[in-house]
Amino acid sequence: MAKIGSLEKKIEILGDASKFDVCASMASSRIPREKNRIGKPDKAGICHAFTPDGRCISLFKVLMTNKCAYDCLYCKNSCINQKSTAMFEPDELVKAFIGLHLRNYVEGLFLSSGVWRNTTETAEKMIEALSIIRKKYLYQGYMHIKILPGTDREYITQFQELADRVSLNVELPTASHLSEVSSTKSYYSDILKCQNYIKQNIDKGLTPAGQTTQFVIGSTNETDREVIERLLWEYQYLDIRRGYFSAFIPVKGTDLGKKKVDRVELKTRENFLYRVDWLARRYQYTKEEIYSILNEEDMIPLAIDPKIAVALQDDRFPIDVNEASYTDLLRVPGIGETSARRIINLRKVKQKIENYRDLRRVGSVVQRAKPFLIVDGKKMTRIIDYLV
Ligand code: SF4
Repeated sequence: MAKIGSLEKKIEILGDASKFDVCASMASSRIPREKNRIGKPDKAGICHAFTPDGRCISLFKVLMTNKCAYDCLYCKNSCINQKSTAMFEPDELVKAFIGLHLRNYVEGLFLSSGVWRNTTETAEKMIEALSIIRKKYLYQGYMHIKILPGTDREYITQFQELADRVSLNVELPTASHLSEVSSTKSYYSDILKCQNYIKQNIDKGLTPAGQTTQFVIGSTNETDREVIERLLWEYQYLDIRRGYFSAFIPVKGTDLGKKKVDRVELKTRENFLYRVDWLARRYQYTKEEIYSILNEEDMIPLAIDPKIAVALQDDRFPIDVNEASYTDLLRVPGIGETSARRIINLRKVKQKIENYRDLRRVGSVVQRAKPFLIVDGKKMTRIIDYLV
């Protein structure tokens, strides 16, 4: 067993404490896990992310410290909930990361942190470690750094000179919701202002992979409209690459640890927010289209896929698959970017799509797409059939 204060023990504590940060792709939690088996995806310490060229790489995912001066009520690391705390010295983090990298266990670093006493002291230690990794070990691989809320501008710039990607978690969609869970964190000066500094540095050419952010869903009574509004605002004004969503988990030992939540419903909500994000970010759905599917409580109805919900209200359907533009095809449920592109290509070669088999061959989900398409002059399923 590793001794308290040893590097192994710190890796164990600080790797485990980093598991609430979403880095890119998370392993599936749908499959029940059994004890004494290998391949458990919930073990903290190493996670996976996709590079801009589509490669999946493994990252050493860890906190610099799990002690934090902020008081977020849902967080095990907050100043009111701390029990077992640890902090890497810069050379310890370097040793741990370089050791794992040289043994080929990890290809990159995802470094986050609580705030040890103040942001300056913590940022300086993180920057020292990152500088050693880049300058002494000449490491050129991927580094994603979580910027601490309230970090000074000069330190943000130094982080961005060293990292490929940075992120700062907005956590809640409005200042008033943040004030429900933290009395010490300012929405504007600690979060939005810092995100704006990051954006200005990106505009000057720093941090080639841009910035991202993360929302916690369900720790307050925030609505989906508020989350989507903030998300779209961040895309428009801060040029974030993407937003991540993390369903709130009541963590034992925290102030919100006993909050009653429907875990299945929250997970579904998280999933539906990702779908809406995809429609806005990749398919350029307007905010009016997205808001049009919200229910009276300003929430996304969880009974119907958001893309189908928008399509059911869209007067352009059904559209002729042999005449529709790429943009219109993208709006058909069951047709994505790849299949829309392939349909256009197939049309060029074959002149026309003659039947559903052609559609299936290009990767469309025909059962979903049918009610919204006219194929060879025929429409096979009525849109109304979707509603029964
Ligand atoms: S700022 Fe982050 S680490 Fe600190 S208490 Fe809040 S959520 Fe936890």
